[in-house]
Amino acid sequence: MSGCMPLQRLHLCMICALCFVVCQFVFLLVLLQRETFTGRLLLFDGGDHGKGKDERRLFGWREFISHTPEQSAAFYQYNLQLSDRVGAVRWLPRTRHESCDSQRTYSLPHASRAKVSVVISFHNEARSMLLRTIISLISRTPEDYLHELILIDDASQDVSLLDDLKKLMAKVYATRGRLTLICLRNVRRQGLIWSRNRGAEAATGHFLLFLDSHCEVNEAWLEPLLDRLALNATLAVSPLLDPIDPTTLRYSKGNELLKGGFDWSLHFHWLKRELSAKEAPEQPYPSPAFAGGVLMISRDWFLKLRGFNSRLKIWGGESIELAIKLWLCGGQIEIVPCSRIGHIFRPRHAFDFPPQFDHESSAALATYLHNSKIIAESWLDEYKNMFYVLKPAARQIPLLPTDQEEDHPTRQLKLELQCHRFDWYLRHVSPELKAHFNELAAMGTLKNGHRCLHARRTDTDMDTDSEVKLPVILDSCYLNDITHWRLLRQSGQLSTATERCLGVEENSQPPRLTLNACSRHKTRKKAQRWLRRGTQLVHNETHLCLDNPLKNQLVLSPCRSLAASQSFQFALEIEKQT
Ligand code: UDP
Ligand code: MN
Repeated sequence: MSGCMPLQRLHLCMICALCFVVCQFVFLLVLLQRETFTGRLLLFDGGDHGKGKDERRLFGWREFISHTPEQSAAFYQYNLQLSDRVGAVRWLPRTRHESCDSQRTYSLPHASRAKVSVVISFHNEARSMLLRTIISLISRTPEDYLHELILIDDASQDVSLLDDLKKLMAKVYATRGRLTLICLRNVRRQGLIWSRNRGAEAATGHFLLFLDSHCEVNEAWLEPLLDRLALNATLAVSPLLDPIDPTTLRYSKGNELLKGGFDWSLHFHWLKRELSAKEAPEQPYPSPAFAGGVLMISRDWFLKLRGFNSRLKIWGGESIELAIKLWLCGGQIEIVPCSRIGHIFRPRHAFDFPPQFDHESSAALATYLHNSKIIAESWLDEYKNMFYVLKPAARQIPLLPTDQEEDHPTRQLKLELQCHRFDWYLRHVSPELKAHFNELAAMGTLKNGHRCLHARRTDTDMDTDSEVKLPVILDSCYLNDITHWRLLRQSGQLSTATERCLGVEENSQPPRLTLNACSRHKTRKKAQRWLRRGTQLVHNETHLCLDNPLKNQLVLSPCRSLAASQSFQFALEIEKQT
C-alpha cells in the first residue's frame, strides 16, 4: 500500500500539471480570440462601442504613420500632430436626423447588383489622415457592398506610402477576402481630374464613389445613397458633408439647408435650399451642383458621360462641369442628408499648381481660369458672354483648336445623349442663376472712347483733401482692377461689385456725382436710378446725361443725342428677356 502512494501522488501531480497547462492554453486561446474579436469589431463591425475611446487599436498603425515625411504645418493645411494622435478610427457624433434611423427603411438592391468601387486620388496627404479615411470607410460600410478600393497616388513625395499601406492592409484585412485593394501611382503628377478618371477606368463595380483623402465616413452613410441610386439610373448623389475643423479636427454637423451651385464666373457657391411646406430637412433634395467633390454615381452612366472632362487640368471646375453635363444630358443630382461624410475643408490649397502660360497671376488662378473657360465654351452657349465679361482675362487663355467653341468630343456627346441647351439648365435647375441674369440690364467695364469708368477705391481719398475728388474717373481699360459695373434692370442702379452705386447728391448745384452704398430705401434709391437710352446713361431724377466733356472730367449735362462724350458702352448689354 505504502509503495503505491508516491505513484498515486505522482499521477495526481501530473494531472494537476496537465490541467494547469490546458487551463493556460484555453486562457491564452480565449485571450487571443478576444483580441481578434475586438480587432474585427473595431475594424469591420462599424459599431461605435466604447464611445469616447478615441484611440482605436490597429496593429501596425503607429509604425505606418511614423514614416510620414517631416513637413511644415503649412504643408498639409491641417493639424498633423493631432491627426497622428487621433487614431485610425474614432467615434463620430451622429449628425444625421434621428428619423434617418427610426422612420426610414432603405430599400437596398441586392449586393450582387450594387457593388461599390471607391476611388480616392491623393497628392501629398498625411499618412494618418489617408489611413483614417480608408479605415473609417471599411469599418462603416457593409462588407457585401464594398467591392473595391482604388487608390491613386498622384505622384506624392512620400514614395513608399503605397507599398507600406499595401503591407499594412494585407496584415489587417487578411480575413476580409472580398475587398479588393487596387493601388495605382502616377509617376508624374496628373492632377485630381485625370487621376479620378484613371481610377474610374480601373473600377469594376456597379457604382463609383469619389472620395477625398481627408474624409471620415459616418455610420450608415451608404444605405441612404444606394436607396436613391437604385431608383434612378441617371441620378448622381452627394452625401451631406460634415465639416471637420482643420485645426482642432472637431467633427461638426453640416447644414442641410444648403445646396451646391455656382455664379457666372463659374465659382462654386452654396445656395439656400427652400423647403416646401411638406418637406422635411432630412429628405433628399435636388441640387444644381454637387456638394464639393464627394459624389456617387453609376459607373456605366459616368462612363457614358465620358467621366470628368479630361481637357480640364489638375484641379478645379471638374465637379461643376460634371454637374452641368449631368443635368443637361438627362441626369439629376441630389444631396442626401441621411448620408453623412466628414470632410476637412482646408483654408487654402495644400498643393502646387504647375506653372501656366500666364506668369502674372498665380498658377492656381490661371489653371482655374483655363478650366472655367473650357466649361464656358463647352456648355454655356450664348451665356458664355456673361462669363467673359466677369473674367475678361479668360479671353487671352490659349486653348487647343479642339477646345475652341464647342469642342469636338463635347459636341459628339451632346448629339449622342441629346443634351439640352444651357437655357434649359437656367429654367429648370438653377433659378438663382437665371434670376441673377434677369436682374441685369448690362454689365462689365463701361467704356467712353478709349477709357473706362473707374470707381476710386476709398471714400477717405475724398475727405482728406480740401478739394473734393471725383468719386469716379476715366482710366485705362487695361488696369487690372478696372471697375466692373452692373446696371440693374428693376432699380436702375449702377453698381460696382462691392455694391457702391453711382448717384447724384441731393440739392447739389450743379448736380454732383456720388458713389455711395447701394440703397434699398425708396427715396434714396431714386437718386441712384439711371435710364439707358441708346448708349447714354440718363439720370432719372435730373434728366441729365453722364458726360465727359473735358478729358476725364465726369459731369452731368443736358443730353445731346450723338454726343460722343455722352456715349458709354458696357462690355455686355443684355437684351430684355420676354
Ligand atoms: N488631389 C490629387 N491631385 C492633385 C490635387 C489634388 O489627387 O493634383 C486630391 C487631393 O489629395 C484630395 C482631392 O484631390 O484628395 C481633392 O482635393 P482638395 O481636397 O484639395 O479639394 P477640395 O476639397 O478643396 O475641393
Ligand atoms: Mn478636400
